[in-house]
Amino acid sequence: MFERRFTMLIDGEALHGTSSFDVINPATAAAFASCPRADRAFADRAVAAAKAAFPGWAALPVETRAAAVAKLADALEARASEFASLLTAEQGKPLDQAMFEVMASVFTLRAFAGMRSETNVLKDEAGHRVIEHRTALGVVVAITPWNFPLVLAMNKVGPALVTGNTVVLKPAPTTPLTSLLFGELCAQVLPRGVFNLICDQNDLGEHLTRHPDVAKVAFTGSTATGRKVLASSADSLKRVTLELGGNDAAIVLDDVPPAVAARKVYDGAMANAGQICVAIKRAYVPEAMYDRFCDEIAKIARAAVVDNGANQGAQIGPVQNAMQFEKVKALLADAREHGRVLAGGQPLDRPGYFIPPTIVCDLDDDARLVREEQFGPVLPVLKYRDIDEVIARANDSEYGLAGTVWGSDVARATEVAMKINSGTVWVNQHLAIDPNIPFRGAKQSGIGGELGQTGLHEYTQPHIVNAIALETSP
Ligand code: NAD
Repeated sequence: MFERRFTMLIDGEALHGTSSFDVINPATAAAFASCPRADRAFADRAVAAAKAAFPGWAALPVETRAAAVAKLADALEARASEFASLLTAEQGKPLDQAMFEVMASVFTLRAFAGMRSETNVLKDEAGHRVIEHRTALGVVVAITPWNFPLVLAMNKVGPALVTGNTVVLKPAPTTPLTSLLFGELCAQVLPRGVFNLICDQNDLGEHLTRHPDVAKVAFTGSTATGRKVLASSADSLKRVTLELGGNDAAIVLDDVPPAVAARKVYDGAMANAGQICVAIKRAYVPEAMYDRFCDEIAKIARAAVVDNGANQGAQIGPVQNAMQFEKVKALLADAREHGRVLAGGQPLDRPGYFIPPTIVCDLDDDARLVREEQFGPVLPVLKYRDIDEVIARANDSEYGLAGTVWGSDVARATEVAMKINSGTVWVNQHLAIDPNIPFRGAKQSGIGGELGQTGLHEYTQPHIVNAIALETSP
């Protein structure tokens, strides 16, 4: 077991909670650390602390708040290796990918430290002045999932703090530790109560999102839980941002060499063992190159190094938790029955939740692996005949998070991308997420957006001040 004792943070105080629970390393399926657990009374204390700290924090000059966020970025960067190892241990991703997430978190905080919500003068004539500016909302509850526990928290904490809100962060119970470590940095940098952090075992989400003193909920997680968040936030009409699930299609056009397409699609599907909201989850390939594409991508999958992410050379780590492991195994069993498995196909016979990169071809569009979000290293490859048909099939999903189009003729690929009904479509690239570019889901992949100026505005209320000179004549 890990020697270090992790603590929650409420009103500047490091707290051990009412009880604790084990955190499992998914590469061994064994407990390696203990996490403090909050109950409802702790959750209420965290919200109360954030509420009490709000007026003082919101009243500070924006430059002071932004400087504090920039300082958090520096503090995180200074301890990047420590955060990356802990992230690999709790989440499972290979160390280089963990370091990438830590540095993305640093860049995200820095980007928000440099952003400002502007004041617009809508009218300024003949003594009549109309100003639109933006004010903070109050207490923000941030709830994060287990696939990118650190950077998804920063997408929320950065803009919330810069704009003058105070925060209660609740990480996913299977990956709480990097957030707890981040809490230690916050305790050193921020005034007490501005940032609070509590941990649960999937049992405090509803209490927090229903809490009358919470002004906004910033949630990333599954569509099923997103629906519950929307419902429990309704009583007090909270502002809600929902970043939810996806079933992103990759469309390969007929002018891409099959080996090139196979490499790009493989990378987009298998990073973080497929546990990325915008991972390629269905690949559509022209009939004429289908067999060559399948051969190439299966070859790449078979050559992948699947191992404990802490080991040098590991490319694919384990699935993050036992529940997700069982879910992916069930989808695999269904795919084995209805399709043709070209690589992988069975969990590895070793401790931990390892599934090798799996390529399945010849599935129907209504197969579970095609319709559902697999969130694991298992990719269905489907064939198509013409462009209109493949666009319709890509759009035939309740999800609409992102997608990719691959083509040598960029203009033609862009034309196809314009017809995909999702929040983002990348052409000839994948995962080009940038803190300065807004990110949002269409359909049941979300409400509202994160990142960019949009992501900043989501933490503010537009405020109009409409003034004229006083009429003094009787
Ligand atoms: P999840 O919905 O099971 O859990 C997410 C968080 O919600 C956890 O912290 C959990 O404790 C909390 N929670 C559970 N019940 C709650 C309730 N009733 N009210 C409020 N919060 C509650 O999701 P997960 O399995 O941790 O994450 C995987 C999902 O997240 C996938 O569907 C993935 O696509 C999605 N995701 C989306 C994005 C995006 O930006 N759109 C990014 C990453 C992950």
